[in-house]
Amino acid sequence: MSDGRDTPKLITEVPGPSSRAWIDRLADRECPAITARRARRASALGAVDDDPIVWAEAVGSNVLDVDGNRYVDLTAGFGVASVGHRNPAVVAAATAQLNTLPHVMGDAYPDTQRIRLLEILAEKTGLDRAILGSSGSDGVEAALKTGRIMSGRSSVLSFSAGYHGLSYGALAVAGYHGDAFRGPFADQLGDHVQQAIYGGAIPDLTNIGTVIVEPIQGRGGIRVPPAGWLQSLADACRAAGAVLVFDEVYTGFGRTGDWFAFQHEDVRPDVLVLGKGMAAGFPISAAVGTAEAMDAWGASKGEALHTQTFLGNPVGCAMALAAIAELENVIPTVNSKSRWLRGLLEERGHTVRGRGLMLGIELDDTLAISREMLRRGFIILPAGEHAEVLGVTPPLTITETQLMSFLDTLDAVLK
Ligand code: PMP
Repeated sequence: MSDGRDTPKLITEVPGPSSRAWIDRLADRECPAITARRARRASALGAVDDDPIVWAEAVGSNVLDVDGNRYVDLTAGFGVASVGHRNPAVVAAATAQLNTLPHVMGDAYPDTQRIRLLEILAEKTGLDRAILGSSGSDGVEAALKTGRIMSGRSSVLSFSAGYHGLSYGALAVAGYHGDAFRGPFADQLGDHVQQAIYGGAIPDLTNIGTVIVEPIQGRGGIRVPPAGWLQSLADACRAAGAVLVFDEVYTGFGRTGDWFAFQHEDVRPDVLVLGKGMAAGFPISAAVGTAEAMDAWGASKGEALHTQTFLGNPVGCAMALAAIAELENVIPTVNSKSRWLRGLLEERGHTVRGRGLMLGIELDDTLAISREMLRRGFIILPAGEHAEVLGVTPPLTITETQLMSFLDTLDAVLK
């Protein structure tokens, strides 16, 4: 478990006895709505027992559980570990920062890491100024507020199967399982949101203030819109004076083969939301906007209109700077790795969608397949409202050996 290049090695059944014991303790003390014990509730209803494994350690594309089993992680931990779990350069930056200055004061007092990060975000995105946050949904909230302020209009357009997080503002624009996620809270979410079909006809935007969209949908099923659709959407926003927000929490930082997915087309958002892989394992996010969008906020009048205790946490900023430096060398490898993997999957008869290392393999019963893959040492999740694809979003540093062992195991599981 040292070089990050390993294939699975299982020494107990999966999940093993230690994982099971920990999950029993978790089930007593965590809100039952949290995913980790979905299986426990399902088994109470008589379904197969598929308790999760409890992670103990991770490095590169490998995860080690509390029973000592080694897995290959084809999710990059929800897309976070793009430069690999526990990337040495990122860990070194975090350690140095922890030993120097682990915390500053949000809007009141900044430090130099935050200023460096804001500068590099502007350089990489081609946008101007940012609001930092701690989670993807934080970034979405900041972007929605920016849209409200810049457009002067309250209405928002979002898209079917879109996923933007589950905080109240983000929940209001939920497409992905929107009825289920919004249901219990619907009467607290306002009525300012309209929804259109992702990749479909662009509705009249006359009264819309903000449009929020993923350039490629992630949780919604690794869905790529038709070529030119984002451009048409951007044109319609310009014509109607609507603020265009690209949610690249999932697609950002090299996932799709470029720094950002919007760079595949000749289109630029007013506000870009980033998170997940940004610091390769620290909760940090950003809403990065044009000068026009961000300056619409006006200057702080003493009390910042938008801030939080941990805004621009120095450890997160230092880790993000290190992750971005690592990505300089990693991103140029993504497209060739993607072509190679996709070619092999298609050779084996699979239908594959997505871009870069954000691929979806169209299969029936992906829940059962992902469960069986875990038992054979691969962490992989279904995606899509109907779990219609197996999502392949590994660390961008995953090796061909690890991917070959995944392909062979998938073949075996499907037979
Ligand atoms: N936007 C997109 C596109 C996402 O994929 C996610 C997380 N899956 C979010 C927003 C929300 O991010 P977080 O879970 O960090 O709040």
